[in-house]
Amino acid sequence: MVVDVLVVRVVDAKMAFIITSSCIGTTDGACVDVCPVDCIYSKKGDNHLFINPDECIDCAACEPVCPVDAIFPDDEVPENESAYIEEAKNYDYDSSEPGNNL
Ligand code: SF4
Ligand code: SF4
Repeated sequence: MVVDVLVVRVVDAKMAFIITSSCIGTTDGACVDVCPVDCIYSKKGDNHLFINPDECIDCAACEPVCPVDAIFPDDEVPENESAYIEEAKNYDYDSSEPGNNL
């Protein structure tokens, strides 16, 4: 007897951390100092820093060091801050540099 076995592979959706509005006006770069993969970007003229969702390894090191609690895992971003998820996705990382360049 031949038994067909269907193997379903479940791949976890990639997570990333998101910087939200509280960063504006603080931008001290504390998150940059602890990020092990240099995936937090900014350039002159920005009003806050951005985490590149394609490079973030979801290690959570940045979250506790932020003095204004601006950083959340993408699935825990408060409803009224959800625009920052799209903003981080659409930010032009190619014309920016890792670090606090404000
Ligand atoms: S979660 Fe880790 S990898 Fe992602 S931005 Fe924060 S420190 Fe960097
Ligand atoms: S630690 Fe917080 S306030 Fe400081 S730059 Fe990072 S996100 Fe902004």
